[in-house]
Amino acid sequence: MGRIIAIANQKGGVGKTTTAVNLSAALAAKGKKTLLVDMDPQGNTTSGLGLDKNELDKTTYEVITGEEKIQDCIIKDLFDNLSLLPANRNLAGAEIELMTVDKMQFIMKENLQKVRRRYDFIIIDCPPALGMLTVNAMTAANTVIVPIQCEFYALDGLTQLIYTIDLIQKSLNPRLKIEGVVFTMYDGRTNLSLQVVENVKSYLNQNIYKTIIPRNVRLAEAPSHGLPINVYAPRSSGAESYNLLAEEVIENGGKK
Ligand code: ADP
Ligand code: MG
Repeated sequence: MGRIIAIANQKGGVGKTTTAVNLSAALAAKGKKTLLVDMDPQGNTTSGLGLDKNELDKTTYEVITGEEKIQDCIIKDLFDNLSLLPANRNLAGAEIELMTVDKMQFIMKENLQKVRRRYDFIIIDCPPALGMLTVNAMTAANTVIVPIQCEFYALDGLTQLIYTIDLIQKSLNPRLKIEGVVFTMYDGRTNLSLQVVENVKSYLNQNIYKTIIPRNVRLAEAPSHGLPINVYAPRSSGAESYNLLAEEVIENGGKK
């Protein structure tokens, strides 16, 4: 049964999508059958893997509304071992439509259960909000990975995020855990990055990945080529770091 991991932080621009795409690609490269689920109406995961999101009519939205079966919406083996459930801006409407649906928080969970046995990992890229889409992702997930950008405001909003995860754990998903916090866009040349890492570590009583993702221009370029970093620039520091992160994630699974 695949482990379901939601990549969540209600702040935008902290590296959720970059982490979802490149962690998934690194897991896939290690032979793990991986399904990447785009749950952000911005569809950056989808376009970052080279798809024209506006051309797609079988997406996460159709799964949520029940118009299509999840099996028919998954793009299989887009890269070796890596499949994608894509999204586009239609998904923004689901936030409202979900409100009228019975047991709305469980829709993604119920759908992912149908395909879970085919994968070793299911990675969900969440939108930058703690709305119904993120709640659906966290209800479906075993664990959450929280990317934190190494910047001055890193701690802002973290309390709220942890509170939300606690709330979902108490009400919708008793076994939900924070898998770990991963620092992103670390700049070794500045003291600020180092300070942020130290601050967050002393503030958070959570697992923190040893791997820190550096700021690496290749990571920012890769989506415009429609490729994950391990294909676009396999020798870059970005590729190496997501590779190491994937190893940690695989190891964690053994312990849990
Ligand atoms: P989110 O999904 O949380 O909004 P993204 O993953 O889209 O964040 O990242 C925001 C921006 O920062 C994107 O333009 C992305 O290419 C860039 N970026 C993310 N991680 C890195 C990194 N480690 N080094 C350089 N640029 C990065
Ligand atoms: Mg994103």
